[in-house]
Amino acid sequence: MKLSARARAVKTSPTLALDARTKDLQAKGDDIVSFAVGEPDFDTPQHVKDAAAEAIASGFTKYTATNGIPELKEAIVSKLSRENGLLYEPSQVLVSVGAKHCLYNAVMALCDVKDEVLIPSPFWVSYPEMVVLAGAVPVAVSPDQGFKVSARQLAGRLTARTKGIILNSPSNPTGAVYTRSELEDLAQFVLDHDLWVIADEIYEHLVYDGYEHVSLASLSPEIKERTITVNGVSKAFAMTGWRIGYAAGPSDVIKAMGKVQIHTTSNPTSISQKAAVAALTGPMDTVWSMREEFDRRRRYMTERLHTMAGFSCQLPPGAFYVFTDVRDVLGKSYRGQNIDNDDQLAELILTEAHLAVVPGSGFGMPGHLRFSYATSQSRIKEGLDRLERWLKTLE
Ligand code: PMP
Ligand code: GLU
Repeated sequence: MKLSARARAVKTSPTLALDARTKDLQAKGDDIVSFAVGEPDFDTPQHVKDAAAEAIASGFTKYTATNGIPELKEAIVSKLSRENGLLYEPSQVLVSVGAKHCLYNAVMALCDVKDEVLIPSPFWVSYPEMVVLAGAVPVAVSPDQGFKVSARQLAGRLTARTKGIILNSPSNPTGAVYTRSELEDLAQFVLDHDLWVIADEIYEHLVYDGYEHVSLASLSPEIKERTITVNGVSKAFAMTGWRIGYAAGPSDVIKAMGKVQIHTTSNPTSISQKAAVAALTGPMDTVWSMREEFDRRRRYMTERLHTMAGFSCQLPPGAFYVFTDVRDVLGKSYRGQNIDNDDQLAELILTEAHLAVVPGSGFGMPGHLRFSYATSQSRIKEGLDRLERWLKTLE
C-alpha cells in the first residue's frame, strides 16, 4: 500500500523515539541514564491530583465544550493577565491536548500549501514536521552566532510566500531567552511584513540568573493581533502526561483552530481540564522550588560538561537543557570505529556509556548534543561520570 506523500514526508520525533528506545532498554534490565526527554522528573502537585480525583468521583467524565470548559478558560484568561500582561476574552482561548496540539492547530489554521514558515534554528523537533503535515514549507533560519536570530537574519529568508514565524523563548533545545528589546525588533519585522507569529512560551517559568520572560504579544496591541501565544501545564506543573495546553490569540484564528480541533480530537480530557484549573489557580510554590532545583542542576551539569575534552557549552539562561557543541569530538574514533557525526556519537554514548542524549541534527543543528537535566541530581552525576569515563577511551 502506498502511503500518502504527507505521511512519507514527515519524520518521527527524535526526542520521543529516543525516549521510547531508552524505556525499552530499561525494561530489558539495562541501566540507562536518560538525559533524553524534556520532562520534569517531579511529581504533579497533590492539589492538582486531588482535583482530578474529585472530577472522577463526581462523574465529570463526559465530553466537554470542545474548546475547553469555561472554568479553565477563565483560569487561563486570568493567568495571562496576571503573569503575562495579556488581556483576552475566554472566546479568544483554546484548550488542546498539550501545547503540541495547540501548535499543530495553529499551523493548520494559518498555513496554506506551499506557504513558508520561518523557524529559527536550532528548533524544537516538532515545528518543521507540523509545517510539513500542513503541506507548507519549513524554512530554518540559523543565527550568525549564539542561539538567537535577529530580524536581519529572518529578513534574509523572506519570500513572497513567507507566512509567519514560530518563535520559542525560552528555547528548547538551547535554553536561550530573547530579551525585551530583541523581541521588539522581531515584532517590528513581523508587522513590517504582515506575518504571523506562533509564540511558544511553554518554558516561561524556567528562567534563571535574573532573566525575564517577556510575552511577545504583550509588546503592543498591533503585535498582539498577529500573535498566537501557546503555553501549557506540562512543564510548569510537571503534568506532561495530563495533556493540557492552551492558545490565546485573535478571535478568528482561535475560532479556526477550534474547527481543526473539533474534527480531530474534540475536547481535551475532561478530568485533566479540572486538574489544569487547580494548577493555574492554585499555589505556585512547587513551580518555584522546582525552578530552584533545576537551577542547581543546570550549573552542575554545565560546569561538568564544560570540563570534558571536546565539549563546549555555556550556561543556558532558560528551560532545562544544555545544548553542547561536540564538533571537536567528531573525527575521533572508538575501538576503531570513526565518529563522523552527532547521530553516531549519541548512538555510541547510548550503547557504550549507557547514557541517552539527543543528537543536535534533529534540532537542525548538527555537531551538537542536547542534555536534559530534568532528572535527579544523583542520576545526573552518574550519567556525567559515565560520559567522562567513556570519552577518555576515544582516540
Ligand atoms: N513546545 C516545546 C518547545 C516543547 O519542548 C514541548 C515539549 N513538551 C512542547 C511544546 C509540547 O508540550 P506539551 O506537553 O504541552 O504538548
Ligand atoms: N518537548 C520534550 C522534548 O523535547 C518532550 C518530547 C517531545 O514532545 O518532543 O524532549
